[in-house]
Formats: sequence, structure tokens, C-alpha cells
Amino acid sequence: MPSSPTLGRAARVSSVAASLLTIGAIGVAVGAVAAAPLAGAAVADAVGAALGSALALVQGANVSARRGRRRFVLVGLVLLGAATLAHAAAVPFLAGLLLGLGAVIAVMAATGWLADAGLPTFAAAASALAILAAASVVAAPVLVATVVLLAAAAVAAISIDTVSGPRTPVFVLPAPPRLSEHPVAALVLAALVASFAWRSGGVFALLIVLAVLAASAGIGCAAGRRSLASAPLTSSGRAYHAASAVFDATVALRPAAATTVRSVEEVREAIDTARARGLGVAMHSTGHAAAGLADLSGSALLKVAIDEPITVDAIRRTVRIPAGRAWGEVVPLVAAHGLTVPHGSSALVGVVGYLSRGGLSAYGRHTGVAANAIESIEIVTADGEHRRVDRENDPQLFWALRGGGGGFGVITAVTVRAFAPGEIVTGTTVWELSDAEAVAHEWARWSAEAPSAITTSLRVLSIPPLPGMPFPLSRRPVLVVDGTAVDGDVTARDAAGTLLARLRSAATPRLDTWRVADPAEVAHTHMDAPFAPAHSSAHALVGAAAPSDADQAHGIVADFLRATADSAVLISELRQLGGALAERPEGAGVVGHYRGAFGWLNLALRGKPGREVAEAAIDAQWEQVRRWETGYTAPTLAAERHRPARSFPEGDIAAVDAVRARVDAEGLFRVDVSPGAHSGLV
Ligand SMILES: Cc1cc2nc3c(=O)[nH]c(=O)nc-3n(C[C@H](O)[C@H](O)[C@H](O)COP(=O)(O)OP(=O)(O)OC[C@H]3O[C@@H](n4cnc5c(N)ncnc54)[C@H](O)[C@@H]3O)c2cc1C
Repeated sequence: MPSSPTLGRAARVSSVAASLLTIGAIGVAVGAVAAAPLAGAAVADAVGAALGSALALVQGANVSARRGRRRFVLVGLVLLGAATLAHAAAVPFLAGLLLGLGAVIAVMAATGWLADAGLPTFAAAASALAILAAASVVAAPVLVATVVLLAAAAVAAISIDTVSGPRTPVFVLPAPPRLSEHPVAALVLAALVASFAWRSGGVFALLIVLAVLAASAGIGCAAGRRSLASAPLTSSGRAYHAASAVFDATVALRPAAATTVRSVEEVREAIDTARARGLGVAMHSTGHAAAGLADLSGSALLKVAIDEPITVDAIRRTVRIPAGRAWGEVVPLVAAHGLTVPHGSSALVGVVGYLSRGGLSAYGRHTGVAANAIESIEIVTADGEHRRVDRENDPQLFWALRGGGGGFGVITAVTVRAFAPGEIVTGTTVWELSDAEAVAHEWARWSAEAPSAITTSLRVLSIPPLPGMPFPLSRRPVLVVDGTAVDGDVTARDAAGTLLARLRSAATPRLDTWRVADPAEVAHTHMDAPFAPAHSSAHALVGAAAPSDADQAHGIVADFLRATADSAVLISELRQLGGALAERPEGAGVVGHYRGAFGWLNLALRGKPGREVAEAAIDAQWEQVRRWETGYTAPTLAAERHRPARSFPEGDIAAVDAVRARVDAEGLFRVDVSPGAHSGLV
């Protein structure tokens, strides 16, 4: 399937039009044959065809996560319904045309859904097959064509069902397969349609069909030429907006140009075009960290969505993840082998953006900094070279890429070590805020001596009553402890059991969801919202003494609770560090461990009161806890550009700068560098 977002608007429209015309012609033929000899049987066939296609459309739409699918399906259904009416009224030409268009919609839907499921080649093949089959049965009942369409849509539905996790956040009309890419199919199709027209309608019908085919071919060729001639970077239109769309509604990105890149070749092409236009290059995938991006008015933004499958090597326990995938897509695939990966608290976060900034995992105290699990990184650097970087190949770049703050090039894939968690125990417990003192101090006492098999966080949540939010969470501010335990230095059951016994004896919870769970459930334990309204946030690593220092833990928790008396802050959080997160393994990247006992973070919605009020609220909290500051951050959590802070020491910053200067001497990717990760920025 062609990567529609990189086609120019005109090319895309004419590509769609060409296919509509061609298949519309087939529809005319099919409709004419079906209505010809036996009106009764033909009407029955038409009803069957319309009903079958309608069911296929609805089923496909039900299992698809594409936005705008309702409108898409509605158009398909209206066309099929109208075709049935026209057929019943014995207006074969109109019935055929409408049925043909309805069929096109069904094929396009199936194509899009297959591509969503990570099967783009199969999508193109299935669509071509469906079109060919529709053509080859021009002299047979419409029902046969319907069976083919149904099969294509059903395959799409089944494939989608087996793939979980988020899909493309912006609806892009899936382009039908360009006939120019299937020359044999196009010729067979043309011959079938022409011979049918000659047999059933004579010279006049043949001339009409030939004219339609010639027009289609002409438009198709022009579209092909335009799509080749047009640069992949656009400055407006749907492709631009699709590439600039972000998860975080705090910012609306307005880059000078943008595109979605789906292959190494497209990455190179986009880099060349940006350079030729005098633009810098920034990249993203989900836009979870969009608030941290610099001003992009002089830059091209690449949405990296490499069109390759995720591959698991169960023997070596590694998984190769193409750039653009979110953790929610990876976890079920490795879980099938009894493994999991060091993902964070949300299934929607992108793998590359998370790992290249370090990554604080839901299993962090067991696994350490997530970037330590990277085996290799595939990257296109400013010179256009596609390199595989690992411990042997350019170890300095490999070191800098793991937490160094970006600006090295466009990552196209990462290979990560998975691990066997054994049993997983995960869950969330909620208490009234009146119990916070007792529970939080028990948590502090426990955290100083906790086994590394378990990773938890302590939060005060002041969540407004949102649809779907459990009642105990949104009634008034609450205290929440959540976490995940695996079989590590102690068993998961022992690790979680000890914590829960202590906390439950401190006060009776209002909600308690701890359980033995599947790996796919872990990314939901923290209950991260699937959207991010405009907000302000702050983060710092706190507690310079060892995480086992109980006095420090009590001091931090006491100040944290005092600070959260202000309920204008939506989320106030202490993430438990220590364990493997405090240890820097041999050969780690620049962010190989965290320099603090807890990760403090908070988040306030801007809403009507606006940015100043939100920032005043989060700053007021920071004042209460800042005596514990370490001067460092976990780079994934330090989102806002106007609050830069270091994630690694001065000496490392200079070394990272040197690597950056070597691989990007002209500073093409300068705009991608995180605040605090460059000696010139803080
Ligand atoms: C709801 C939520 C929950 C979170 N939970 C956690 C958590 O538990 N632990 C944690 O550590 N962090 C967490 N984060 C932070 C998150 O890990 C970072 O924001 C991360 O950078 C997001 O990566 P992304 O690819 O999804 O975002 P994007 O905004 O798409 O990318 C972020 C940055 O990564 C770089 N990047 C992305 N793709 C490429 C590429 N192909 N080539 C080169 N550079 C690239 C770019 O510099 C880009 O600016 C969370 C964030 C949110 C909003």
C-alpha cells in the first residue's frame, strides 16, 4: 500500500479518483449483468450483496481504531443501500455504479484496517485480489463478488482483533492500491471490462468503457508523476497536520514543514529536502513529549512511523521495535513468550522517545533504567548513512544515544532485551486523604527496606469527575499507592504481600485492585489518561542520600504531604527509585542510573484559570520539597522546555556534545536537543 500521508494532496485525490472511476466501471458491468435476465433473482442478489458488504463494513469498523471511521462507513452504507433501491427499481446502470462505489469503500476500509494491523503488503495484495476477483466475475452473480469483499473485510477484522494497543491517532483516508503498481492486474481488469462491454452493450458501450479506462489511466499516470515530483515535506494540508498532531494538547506544533516517514529511504529523502530548504530537523512519534519541543518555525518535523513489523527473538530474548511503535503494541507480542519489556506507566508512550531519554519503568527497581536494556539502535545520521549502533559499532554514539538528549539523527529501530518476570502482581490502592499521614509514612518506612522486585509510587490525586473514572477516585482528593512486583530478589507475592499488609493495617482502603496479572495489565495500573489536556508540570529527582535512608524517606514524604494540601494540582507524585535504578551497570549509556531516592513530579491542568495559575500551583508545591533536590532529573519526565535541568553531570554533557558535533557537524538536528542536555542550553 502506498504511504498515503507522504503523497501530495492532488496526487492522493487523483489516485483515489482513478480507482473510483475504474472500479465504478466494473460496478456498472456487474450491476447490468445482475439486473439483466431475471429481475427476481437479481434483486435478491443485490440485497444479499448490499447486506453482506454492509455487515463487513460494520464489523470492520467495530474493531478498527481509526478516527472518522463512522463517517467512512456511513458513506459506504448509504451507497450500498441506494444501490439496493436502484436495483429493486430496475435501474441497472445506477445500481451498478452505486454498488461499484460501495464496493470501493469496502475494499478501501479493508485495506486501511489491514494496514493498521501492521500488514500493509498483505493489505495491498488483498485489495488487488478483491478488485481482480470483482472484475473476473463480471458475468457471474453479484453475490460472488460480495463473498470476495466479505473475505477481505473479514481478514481485516480478524487481523485487527489480534493486534492490541493504540493505532494511528489521526484518520488518514487509506489510498487504494495504485493500479500502476499492479500492471498485470490493471491489464486483466481492462481486458475483462472491455470484453464484457463489447458482448453486452456493443460498440457504444465499449467506447464508453474505453473512455473511462483511458481517463482513469491518464489521471493515474498524472497522479504518479505528481507524487514523484512533489517533495515529501509539506507545509499545509492533511499530511502536514497528520505529521504534526500530538498526544499532548498543551501545545499545537507549527513546524515550517512536516511529513510522516515510513522507511529509511523516506527518512533520507526528508532530511535531504529539509537541508535543501535550509530547515533544521526534529522528529517525534506519539507527541507525548511535545511540550518539550523547541520552536519549530525554522524546522521540518518528521513523524517517524517505520512500516515494519515488531520481531521477537524468543531464544535470544530480544525484540526489534521499529520507530513509531508504542509500548502497548510490543507487550502482547513478547508476553506470548512469557516475557515482558521495561515499559513505563502508559501503553501509549512511544518506545523510541522513552528509551532514548532513559525510561523509568513500571518494573524499574527490578530492571534498572530502561535504556540499559537496549542492545542496538538503528539510526539515520545527518550524512544520510543508516547505521546500526551497539557496543561494538561506535560505542561512543551508543553511549550518548541512551539518555543523551537527542540531536544525533533519526532513529529507525531499537532492539531491546526482554526479561522473564515470572509471576506478576500489580494493583492500585486508594485511601481517603484523612488517612494520608498514617499510610504515607508506613510507605516511607517500607520503601527504605523494600526488595527490588517491587516498584511503587505514592500519589495524591485531585481528579475531577470524569466519565469512566471510578467513584472513589473522583469524589475528592485521595491518596493512592500503586505498583508492580515480579519474581526477583523475593517472589512477587511476597514483595506485594508485605507492602499491602503494612499499608492495609495503617488504614482501611477505599479501593484495592492488587492481583496476579498478565503483563499487558501492568501498563494500566497507574491509570494514565489516554489523552493530555493542556497542563503545566514539574519534575525533579529528590533525596541525595541512599534510598535506604529511612529518615530521608520520612522527611520527603512529610514535605510532600504538606505541599499537596493545595488541591489545584491534579497529580502530585513520588515515584520510588532505588533498587536497580540506583545502580549503573557496566557499559550503560549516559543515563544508566538515577541520582535520587524518589522521582517527584506534579501536574496541574491549565483550564480556565490559565497557565500562570497552574504554574503558581506547581511552583508552590516545589517550594515545599525543594530542600531535597539533587539537581538532577529523569529526562523522560522533565518535559517542559522552560524548566531545564540536568540529567547527567557537567563532564558527561561535554562528552555528549562532542559526539553530537561528530555525527551532526552542521547542527541539522540541533532543534531536537533536550533542554539541559547541551552545554549551551542551560
Ligand atoms: C501519560 C504519560 C505517561 C508517561 N509515563 C512515563 C513513565 O512511566 N516513565 C517514563 O520514563 N516516562 C514516562 N512518560 C514520559 C515519556 O516517556 C516521554 O515523554 C517520552 O519521551 C515520550 O516518547 P514518545 O516517543 O511517546 O514521544 P514523542 O513526543 O513522540 O518523542 C519524544 C522525543 O523523543 C525523540 N524521538 C522520538 N522519536 C524519535 C526518532 N524516531 N528518532 C529520534 N528521536 C526520536 C525526540 O527527541 C522527541 O522529541 C510519560 C508521559 C506521559 C504523557
